Amino acid sequence: MAFEADRHTEVQYLKGVGPVRAQQLRRLGLERAEDLLFHFPAEYLQRGGVIDLARVRVGEIITTQGQVLDVQKRRVQRGRTLVTVTLGDAGARLRLTWFNAAYLADKLRVGESLVVSGAVTLYAGQPQMVNPEFDQDTQSELVTSGPVPRYPLTAGLKQGALRKIIEHVLDTVVQDVPEPLPDKLREREQLMPRIDALREIHRPSDVDRVERARARFAFEEAFALQLAVGIRRHGYLRRSSRIVVDDYGTLSTKLVNDLGFELTGAQRRVLSAIGKDLRSKVAMHRLVQGDVGCGKTLVAVIAMVWTIEAGGQVAFLAPTEVLARQHGRRQGEVLKKLGVKVATLTGATPSAERRDILKGLATGYIQAVFGTHALIQDDIHFRRLGLAVVDEQHRFGVAQRGALAQEGAHLLVMSATPIPRTLALTVYGDLDLSVIDELPPGRSQVGTRVISDKALAPIYEDVVARAGRAEQSYLVFPVVEENEGSDLASAKAAFEELKSGPLSALRLALLHGKIPPREKAQLSEAFARGEYDAVVATTVVEVGLDVAKATLMVVHQAERFGLAQLHQLRGRVGRSHLKSECVLVSGPGLGQRARQRLQLLASTHDGFLLAEADLRERGMGDLHGFRQHGRALFRALNPLQDELILTRARESAREILEADPGLRSGRHASLATWLDELGGRSPFWSASG
Ligand code: ADP
Ligand code: MG
Repeated sequence: MAFEADRHTEVQYLKGVGPVRAQQLRRLGLERAEDLLFHFPAEYLQRGGVIDLARVRVGEIITTQGQVLDVQKRRVQRGRTLVTVTLGDAGARLRLTWFNAAYLADKLRVGESLVVSGAVTLYAGQPQMVNPEFDQDTQSELVTSGPVPRYPLTAGLKQGALRKIIEHVLDTVVQDVPEPLPDKLREREQLMPRIDALREIHRPSDVDRVERARARFAFEEAFALQLAVGIRRHGYLRRSSRIVVDDYGTLSTKLVNDLGFELTGAQRRVLSAIGKDLRSKVAMHRLVQGDVGCGKTLVAVIAMVWTIEAGGQVAFLAPTEVLARQHGRRQGEVLKKLGVKVATLTGATPSAERRDILKGLATGYIQAVFGTHALIQDDIHFRRLGLAVVDEQHRFGVAQRGALAQEGAHLLVMSATPIPRTLALTVYGDLDLSVIDELPPGRSQVGTRVISDKALAPIYEDVVARAGRAEQSYLVFPVVEENEGSDLASAKAAFEELKSGPLSALRLALLHGKIPPREKAQLSEAFARGEYDAVVATTVVEVGLDVAKATLMVVHQAERFGLAQLHQLRGRVGRSHLKSECVLVSGPGLGQRARQRLQLLASTHDGFLLAEADLRERGMGDLHGFRQHGRALFRALNPLQDELILTRARESAREILEADPGLRSGRHASLATWLDELGGRSPFWSASG
């Protein structure tokens, strides 16, 4: 029985795909036929077509064709095998050499035709290609001129094999792919029809048309996102707030008066926007962005006190156990002084205590609770949740954010990862955005320098000297444990070495992700209290730890980290008037580019600039959770470069939603279905939340 594949067919049922292939495809996030069509090439190779053997010139990278005149196999030094072929066409000759490919001696036969592609070098006065790409099929893709797609691959899956599968899907199911964009919109924006664009992406005719096809999908992605964001936002706008703050009371006045310092201008500005939101009958949905140390937490605490004064409860969500406990202790202390009833709830809270806290939240006795995602369990009920603060947003999903805002609580999201503005508008477009773009005065900038790992001795002397002044140091390593086949330096090994070596006189702690959360929190707190002189750690120290006496940050194999991440690490020091320093230790054999990256960090403290550089370099990466199940969120859109597309998509989405806010009209049925499909794949596209 002939089996007809359609766009929903699971990959293992496609022609030429067995269980092994299917497994490989799934590793790339490709589960159904249609997914293959949307597996876009990472790049296109520009082949120049076939050149006559007689016109081959040394120094060029070309494709040519000829007859196999001679095949030789021999052993050379160190047990390597060398296969040499003479390729001829009319009077012209080209020598082909392959190392360690003995099987070729049997595969290639004298007299047959061969297409080869590679760089032409000179050998004994004759032109030669070493390890060229080749094909015995003279109609192979090697002979095509024009762009050839190169797909992202996974172990065991070769370019040619994947191309064949995609070709097959293109031939059989592409016509089933629906066009979600309304015709009118497509015409106005001059967007290529979807099926044509898919054909162009996989079987490119020329570079300009490929770019037009890409632009079509970039628009589509931006448009879907703006619709989802717009619908979410529309939902928020109808969510009336549980607590309306009418006036500020004595508690917040006392809090601000007792600070011992002045709020920065930026903090005041953001607080005034938040104050306005809290007084509104519509629940707040605001994102506060600001570089490490700019004082976001304080802004949140003031908003929390305003809400408590108005009779509401508040919840503060931190991304990790350590941070939840740190905030519970620090911010909790501040609130307790004002007479507020405070609790901390994490996954490690003993069950009897948890029961008491749940009761306190349900009766309203507990006014402020700090915690991890343990705070968004089904059995947790607040009597009057007025405000939810989510710290370090990018670690939480949209869905969790929605769960908290459910009961009409105001929502304040805080992020220390600077996001370029276009990106913020894209992904957080459903939130109002405030930026704290000023650091509290008196912070000396953290001097940053790059050194080689050969020059570490004076650094450790410095660690000891600082300990003598009751200052503390962080020593960060890329991994917890030594790994076979990897040359990454490990925190564990370094800890042992330092403890019995240069730092033997110091109180040294070891902190990494494999330590149980409770113990990790206790260690961090002990470090914060000054019970250790230095901590050897992995990037668990990256977010949020606030230790005033910490003045030295040493990052080993710094080239292994992203710029934004290094900037976050650097933000762990320089948190008081004490002079602080950040030392980036480069591993052996640091390349020119890697050095320049690190130098950029040494030359600027602008978190936005670094985040942008990071994004350009690493792509969207997983910096903001843009990667879902190993697949990039955007296949065509590049939010850093496609600003125009983004703006136009935003406008179009707004126009449609203004007329039909929930996409309920029959006219928009295909749009709504499409969004549902996308939303099922990732909450980023989800219209609810
Ligand atoms: P963020 O969360 O933005 O990284 P924090 O809220 O942790 O920053 O603030 C860092 C430190 O700066 C804290 O110790 C905080 O008490 C202090 N701080 C906050 N605002 C000010 C200010 N206006 N002036 C001086 N110090 C401040
Ligand atoms: Mg913070």
